[in-house]
Order: sequence, then C-alpha cells, then structure tokens
Amino acid sequence: MIKSKPVDELTTVPPLGMDEESVRNCFRYYYNHTLGRSNNCLATHYPYKALSYTLRDRLMERWKKTRSAYEDSDCKRTYYLSLEFLMGRALSNCMLNLDLNETVQASFYKLGLDLEEIADSEQDAGLGNGGLGRLAACFLDSCATLQLPVKGYGLRYEYGMFKQRIEQGHQIEDTDHWLLNGNPWELERPEYTQRIKFGGYTEFHKNNKGKLTVYWNGTRDVLAVPYDIPIPGFQNGTVNTLRLWKAAATDEFDLDEFNMGSYTEAVEEKNSAEHITMVLYPNDSSENGKELRLRQQYFLASASLQDVLREWLFRHDDFSQFAEKNCFQLNDTHPTISIAEFMRLLIDEHEHTWDEAWAITSNSMAYTNHTLLPEALERWSVPLFKSLLPRLLEIIYEINTRFLEQVAMHWPGDAQRRRQMSIIEEGSVPQVRMAYLAIVGSFSVNGVAALHTELLKQGLFNPFYQLWPEKFNNKTNGVTPRRWLAGCNPELRQLISKKIGEKWIKDLSQLKQLEKFVHKKEFRKQWQAIKKSNKVRLAALIKEQCQVDFNTNALFDVQVKRIHEYKRQLLNILHVIHLYNRIKAGDTKDWTPRCVLIGGKAAPGYAMAKLTIKLINNVANIVNNDPQAKGLLNVAFFPNYNVSAMEVICPGTDLSEQVSTAGKEASGTGNMKFMMNGALTIGTLDGANIEIREEVGADNFFLFGLTAEEIDTSRPHYDPMSIISNDTDIANVMQILESGYFNQCEHKLFEPILNSIKSSHDMWMTLADFRSYIDAQEEVAIAYQDTEKWTTMSIINTLSSGKFSTDRTMQEYNRDIWKMKAVPAHPVK
Ligand SMILES: *Cc1c(COP(=O)(O)O)cnc(C)c1O
Repeated sequence: MIKSKPVDELTTVPPLGMDEESVRNCFRYYYNHTLGRSNNCLATHYPYKALSYTLRDRLMERWKKTRSAYEDSDCKRTYYLSLEFLMGRALSNCMLNLDLNETVQASFYKLGLDLEEIADSEQDAGLGNGGLGRLAACFLDSCATLQLPVKGYGLRYEYGMFKQRIEQGHQIEDTDHWLLNGNPWELERPEYTQRIKFGGYTEFHKNNKGKLTVYWNGTRDVLAVPYDIPIPGFQNGTVNTLRLWKAAATDEFDLDEFNMGSYTEAVEEKNSAEHITMVLYPNDSSENGKELRLRQQYFLASASLQDVLREWLFRHDDFSQFAEKNCFQLNDTHPTISIAEFMRLLIDEHEHTWDEAWAITSNSMAYTNHTLLPEALERWSVPLFKSLLPRLLEIIYEINTRFLEQVAMHWPGDAQRRRQMSIIEEGSVPQVRMAYLAIVGSFSVNGVAALHTELLKQGLFNPFYQLWPEKFNNKTNGVTPRRWLAGCNPELRQLISKKIGEKWIKDLSQLKQLEKFVHKKEFRKQWQAIKKSNKVRLAALIKEQCQVDFNTNALFDVQVKRIHEYKRQLLNILHVIHLYNRIKAGDTKDWTPRCVLIGGKAAPGYAMAKLTIKLINNVANIVNNDPQAKGLLNVAFFPNYNVSAMEVICPGTDLSEQVSTAGKEASGTGNMKFMMNGALTIGTLDGANIEIREEVGADNFFLFGLTAEEIDTSRPHYDPMSIISNDTDIANVMQILESGYFNQCEHKLFEPILNSIKSSHDMWMTLADFRSYIDAQEEVAIAYQDTEKWTTMSIINTLSSGKFSTDRTMQEYNRDIWKMKAVPAHPVK
C-alpha cells in the first residue's frame, strides 16, 4: 500500500537552512534533479534517498567543523577497532540527533508524503552479528554526544548479516546485498587508500643508512579504500566518523601470466583481492578459523593503523608524543593482530628500535574481552599465520620470547607456568592465542560487566591478573538512550519529557526524577496507555511477520537474541510446553493469558541452534492451532530479528527473558533495552542482569536459577535424569516431547535436543534451573494480574535504568583508559 502522493518539481538550488521550507525545497531538488524522478514515480526508495541527501547536506558542514575543531586543538584521540558495527537504520536517528523530526514531519505533510512508510524502506546496515556489533554502534553514538574525539574503524562488507526466513519451521538464510541500491550515508574517500600486504617472505638487509632492516617481499598486495559514515551527536553540532574499508585490487598485473597471453586470467586474479570484504562471518560467540577471516582481521588492522600514522605524521615530526595522544580500543580479540602490525610499521617502516616500538604500542593499545566461552577464544594455526603473514609471525614470536622472560622472572623455575601463559600454544599444530597476545600488548584489559570481569580475573586470565593486576578493569556495557528510548518509544519520550524536561536524553540518571510520579494516577494511566499502544504496534508486526494473533491484553513474554545453547531458548520453550501441559490437563484456574515471542538468528553451521528454531516453530504451530489453548497461550517465532525489529519489539514487551546459564553471558545489552522501555526481567544472576537487579531492587526483578558459583560446584554431580524423575511437571514436559507430539510426521527429529537435555554433561545445565524457572514464571503470572502493582514495577524499571546508558559507559572508558578531553565542534556559521 503506497500512501504517498507524487513529488512536484522545483528548479532552483535551495539553501541549507534547518527550517521547514529549506528542508522541503532541498528534498524536492534532490528528488527531481539529482535523482531525476518525476511526479509519477511511486517507489518509496527515491523519496528515502532524497530525504537522506537532504539530511546528509546538513551533516556535512557540521562534520567538517568537528574535524577542524579536533585538528585545531591537537587533542588526544581514540580509535575503536571492530570487525562489526551493527548500525541499523540511519535516517530516523539522524533526524532525531539533528532535531529535525518535527521539521521533516511538517515538510512531508505539506508534500503529502508518509514519512513512516518512507523511513521504513531503509535497509538495516547489518554489519554485525549481535550484541558485540550493536555495542560498537551505541558507543559511537555516545562518543559523538559526549563530544569525544573517537573514530570507528571497521569493514565495509558487501554482504552483511544474512536475512533469515522460516520455511516449514526451518531457518533459511538469504544473502543481504544491502549496498545494491547504493548507500546515501557513505562518502567514498579514495584519496586515503592504503596498501595491504599478504604472503611473500622476509629478508634482512642493511638499508641506505647502514641499519639492518627487515624487508617483507614477494607479497600479493590489496588496496583498502575508505568509506566514511557520519555519526551525529545528539543536538550538539558534533559529527564523528565511522571509517569502513573496502578491499580493491591493485592495478598491477601478474606480468608473467600477462606476457604468456593470459590477459583475462590475469584480470580474473584481481577478483580474489576483493573477496576480503565480501561477507561478514555470521558466527556469534564462536570462532571459525577460516583463512579469509584472518585476512579480514589483518586488512582492518593494517589499513586503520597506516591511516592513523599518516594523519599523525602530517601534523607531527616524530612519535615521542604518540602514545600520550592516541589510543586504540580493540573490540574483542578480532583486531588484536593490530599489536603485531603496529610493531611492524614502527620498526620496519619508521625505523624504531624494538624497545621504542614496544613502548609506543603497549601504551596505546587497550583490549576489551567479550566472552569466556572456550569456543569463542580465537586461536590461529602457526602454519597458516606463517604463509599469510610471515613478518607478523616473526614479531609475535619475539613478543612472546620477551614476555616469557618476564614470566620467568616473576615465577623463577616454573616451566609449567611459562607453557600455560605462552602466546604460542604447543601441540602437533602450534597455535597463536590471540587473547594472550591482546593482554600482553595492551595497557588495559576490561570485561563488560562486574561478574564477567571477576570471572576473567579469577578464572581464564588469572595468571595474567597475578602478573599485572593494574591492567584489569570493569566497564559495564550500556545502550544508547537516543535510539533505545527517545527514538524507538516516542510516546514515552513525550510523557517523560512533559514531567521532567528533555535533559534525561543526554543524562539518563535524571530518569530518577520520575519517582515523584510513580503514584500519580494520571501519570500511571498514561504509562499504561503507552505500553498498550506499543503492544498494539508490536502485535501488528507479529501478525504481518508470523501470521499469529497476539491479544494485547495478554502478558507479552519476549526472548529475542542470537540463538545459542548458553542463552537457553530451550529453557523458555520447555516452559511453554509446561504451560501447554497445564492447559491440556485443565489446570487453568486464575490463568494469566500469555503471548510468547522468541526470535533470533542461528549461525548457519550451528545444528543445535537451528534445531531449537525448528522446535520453537513446531510447538508454536501446535499451540496456536489448539482450540483449548485459545485465549490462554500463543507462541510465535519472529523471523529475521535485527535492530529495526528490536526498535518495535522492546517498547511493546512486558516480560524480558534473560535466562542464560549463570557465568556464560558476559553482559547482555538486550536486557537493558527492555528495562529502559518498562519491561520487567525474569533472569538468572548472570552478566549485567546482576547490576540491573541491583539498580531496580530485588522486588522488581524475577530471579531464578543457580549462581555462577553454584553452577561450577554442582556441575560434577549434575544428574538431569534424577531431576526428571523427582518432578512431575518436568517429567510431563519430557514425556510429551519424547512422545513425538510436536514432531508427528518428523520421526525422531528432536532426538539431539532430548539427548542434550538428559546428558549429565549438558554444558548449559538446563534442567538444573527448570523448577526454579517454572516457579518464577508463576510469580510473574500472578504479578501481572495485579495491573497496578505491575505498572509500579514497570515505571520503577524505566526510572532505574540510568546506569545502562552508554554515555555512562563511555565516560568510564574515558576516565580510566582513554583520558581525553571533550572537544566541542566549531559552530556552523
Ligand atoms: C541488542 C541486540 C542484541 C544483543 O542482545 P542480547 O540479548 O544482549 O544478546 C543482538 N541483536 C540485536 C539486533 C540487538 O539489537
């Protein structure tokens, strides 16, 4: 359904004003002239593009003013290096941050265009898997809002995160060719192209000054072309930069091949260079060890470091102040090869001694760890490293040799300790342990929630903590309140601002002022009406996406996140089956109607995760079509969960499911988005859930399950079979599953899931928490029936969410690690 009217012609070039008329004229100019569309074109894509260009023009001058303010002040800078930036849509965020929402709304009203429909036609920039990539995006928003000189560096993947479809309950992956229709938000900057080396061999010669120098020769080079994306701060004139690299072939030919007449083959070769930035690896929290992935990592590291060095040397004669004025924040181990690459650039290309180079490198690198899961810890085989990056392997060996001397000084005669801590893991195929390289080469190592940082210090990285306790620090994650409250929940934004003004958008701790209104009747009524209206919007999306009817009077119970065993979507669906059993047994006295939504992508190679999606869909199919369950229970699987889906989902949620096995979820950030929007959490004492519960108070959080410590101590005697035989509810759930009730024409389909649940080696100890989960869910159901109590808890969740703004997170990074001054942009005339 197209609601928009045609756009009429304009023939003069309009000025860059921020008023309604200038915006409208600029839009018409782009639509009619730059894009060449006439008033009988109905595709929403062109008005979207014309509006994007209109807004981009207004960012452009602020972007230059920000850059010149940074240059003029010669301020300290930070570079956020990340293989993933899960940006989502740019247009509505740009309107919000430029304070042009109402202006554009008014322009479009005059033009007879439907802004919502046009904004909806924007593709998500899906250059990330999940939490880690979205965190990077929220960080950039907060840094621009705090006017911190932070630049993001990442890769411009041709294909972002795959699109997920569900066919007969199974996940199907479609490619996400997001750049196909062009990207109005990027600015190509070929003038800053860098050259990246791969392969070849190293040689040692004296250079023209007689100094022994390493030459890395015989390489196959690839060009890195930067594309800049503007990152506007919230209504403050600042526009920071996200620079994404695209791989391109050099214009040299393989001359031998060329001379033999193989012209087309020689050109074809060039194709392979461009593969480096072709596709994002769709694995969340697990490494994959593919050579192309190592190429991507080195490509990002080398291009970004060369770019920073180029800019530095443009303004400075030497490196004496480099570490004082620059910091690299490594988002997980993915860009850790930067440590070795920076050593190479300083020594081989800028003639520094090892010790000078090490002082500069190890004082400018900082590492953020994102997970303790062993399957996520990156290791690269030494032979692969040697063939792809021979010079970097030499440097890593030298770093390790010098590091192990330090270990030997600290623990004299302890060979076992040296083996344990070595960056090189010995074995039939020796491996480079990237996390160890990151710790050794950085001055700061941080976890992403209090519990997670404790577990790093006491567990996985304990020997390093003993050696360097001062390096370790915690930085609890957050989310940006611009996108995740002000942007995605406009009605709530308006209500809050009516009560306490607009300042909370830049200082979320001010939400505490809502305490005065918790018991005000009018305010509570408005709060309820807004939640209801957000549920209506969500229900419409679910109807469209899942063909399932959600009754907006029911409890909306939501779990959306990547599908992973440790996140325990299985526990959630087992509870749904328990509720269904109760319905079938007629045990429905004082029942709370409930609509359960589960969504998320499974890594294409992760069989258990894909089977879990199938189980959820099969259960949904049976429950939704059972007349006995009508009005009591509905279940839907949300396809293609992404950032823009979450912007509709979190405002419409009553209950947020955060049920990971304690000790496994480093932080979580979905939990924070839900809390901000007034959902209550049912959760384990894991990651940031612990801090959420601290902020909101135990009475306003539904806690269940074992603690991380209890998980560890009870693991050796974990006996799921005895749990089943001692609990009839659990036994009934297992029995209906094993009877094949949910897979009647799909014999034994769910056997792997059943076996994992029943195994005493189940890593995720699902049944250990099931009873406690059922009981907590019953408390939820009872609490939801008391609408007034629930409303109070909902308001308290939102007003207690101030800590979980990435503004707070970024201020802590800056206070403890980056130590920069804020630099306001020069004013626009
Ligand atoms: C916030 C977010 C995540 C992270 O969710 P968790 O529940 O913390 O795993 C993943 N994907 C998207 C699209 C998000 O917006």
